[in-house]
Amino acid sequence: MFTVEERRRAMPAMLRAKSQERVVILGAGAAGLLAALMLAGENRAIIILERDPSPPEDAADYDGAFEHWHRRGVGQLRHSHAFLARLVNIIRAHHPALIDQLIAAGCREMTLADLLPSTLKDRYTSEPGDAELSILMSRRVTFELVLRRYVLGLGGVTLRSGAFVTGYMIAPGDPPRVSGVTLESGETVGADLVVDAGGRTAQTAEWLAGTGVVLPQSGEPAGILYYTRHWTLKPGQTPPPRNGSPGAGDLGYLKFGLFEADNGWFSVTLAVPEVETELRAAIVKPETFDAICHALPGVAPWIDPERAAPASKVFAMGDLSSRWRRMVSGGKPLVENLYLIGDGLIRSNPLYGRGTSFAAIEAELLARALVAGHDPAARALLYDSWVEQALRPFYDDMIGQDRSAIARAEAARVGARGSLRGQLVRSFIRDGAGVAVRDDLPAFRAALRAFHMLDKPRAWLTEPRHMGVVLKTWARGKRRNAHLYPGRMGPDRTEMLDLLGLHNEVSAAA
Ligand SMILES: Cc1cc2nc3c(=O)[nH]c(=O)nc-3n(C[C@H](O)[C@H](O)[C@H](O)COP(=O)(O)OP(=O)(O)OC[C@H]3O[C@@H](n4cnc5c(N)ncnc54)[C@H](O)[C@@H]3O)c2cc1C
Repeated sequence: MFTVEERRRAMPAMLRAKSQERVVILGAGAAGLLAALMLAGENRAIIILERDPSPPEDAADYDGAFEHWHRRGVGQLRHSHAFLARLVNIIRAHHPALIDQLIAAGCREMTLADLLPSTLKDRYTSEPGDAELSILMSRRVTFELVLRRYVLGLGGVTLRSGAFVTGYMIAPGDPPRVSGVTLESGETVGADLVVDAGGRTAQTAEWLAGTGVVLPQSGEPAGILYYTRHWTLKPGQTPPPRNGSPGAGDLGYLKFGLFEADNGWFSVTLAVPEVETELRAAIVKPETFDAICHALPGVAPWIDPERAAPASKVFAMGDLSSRWRRMVSGGKPLVENLYLIGDGLIRSNPLYGRGTSFAAIEAELLARALVAGHDPAARALLYDSWVEQALRPFYDDMIGQDRSAIARAEAARVGARGSLRGQLVRSFIRDGAGVAVRDDLPAFRAALRAFHMLDKPRAWLTEPRHMGVVLKTWARGKRRNAHLYPGRMGPDRTEMLDLLGLHNEVSAAA
């Protein structure tokens, strides 16, 4: 499709160094930057092409970037993000200096000791593996800016902002081979391999359509919409003491989470089931959003006007779904020299906070597949099978949980109790496993390792010791375990709708 000379001219001079592999990364979001972080090295020249503009001049203080950095390509930029232990460990293993820079920028490192429930605090003694359970909390903008600056300081990496990619350069064949990308300006950028990190709206399928390649994919709705508002602590104020009520929880008709972030900022995210149409419409109003927060005992003290001031509007985000794409079918790659990474490959429900960890794992596996050999087909097969092994258990577990959350939300809306089996499973999770991990340090550690993707999901429950603890706790019953439950989470649906002055559609109809 393109001659060698055309490819050569399309390539920046620095990318032509003979022994180097030329890599084009499409997108400087989380996955594109993590890919550059893992792939940068002497043998590669990397050019990142990003449609959005560079951060503004006043981005140095992070608040300027939060306010003024317009990123049409990243709809979730101003939604709460938490960075799981698996992501932190991957960064620390390869680039410990980046962790130092994130912390210096104000990102909060929370250790296992910080994450312990009040019921275990007095009994905690550290163990060697506990260092693996640290997480990072910050605004997504802050995390991304620090990561971006760090990546640009690595040798051989360049980034072009305002470079809108409109397609791949593809040579037909069986399978077709990608040899670069085309830009909106008409320019072409040649490459030995292209890493597409275009995010949730990546155009991969459309761009491949002309070659007859159809990527197999499966997906499901997450069943929720996301609403986030930010606050800053007022001068001289500190976070409130814990009052026993959780800062995150699931009320059936509403999920909520409080995210401590960098530099005195924090945010609250409310996730509303799609079926709650009235609540969804009302919640974007700051006064409704705040009224809900004031009704949640674990959140209310944070947004006390004496302590904190609102620092943003309510950001809303819909079209949340899970999706898994594959680049391999029948044991053969569908395209060569093209690798998907991040949300363009696997999209997950944001409630689990796993998207950037998925991307980091994929970046690490891609780097391994590329050093394993130079044959494009072998590389593609390795990358596909390693991603499958590493991430499929987490993805499938999430799909299962999302399905039951959707069913529960519908039951809550119509005031139904749900099936007997569903009630039993929920009781086992809430009154057995959920209580046991608040009473038993080894079980808490093991459950947290699964949550943070250090061990397979639910692997801890297959260990006889932990299962024994959970069953014993469950059998003791709610009354004898009363001291182990967290404080009140929040009002039930009817109470909340009354409080907000919303019309309870289902009750009214009944
Ligand atoms: C509401 C919400 C909350 C989330 N919370 C968390 C969380 O707490 N923790 C967590 O780990 N993950 C979270 N995630 C997931 C996380 O944001 C994503 O998984 C992660 O950003 C994926 O990175 P990405 O690079 O694939 O996509 P993005 O970060 O969206 O980046 C895609 C990039 O590609 C660029 N681009 C797209 N098309 C083109 C083009 N044609 N030409 C040039 N550039 C292009 C875009 O401008 C953008 O910069 C959340 C997601 C959502 C939606």
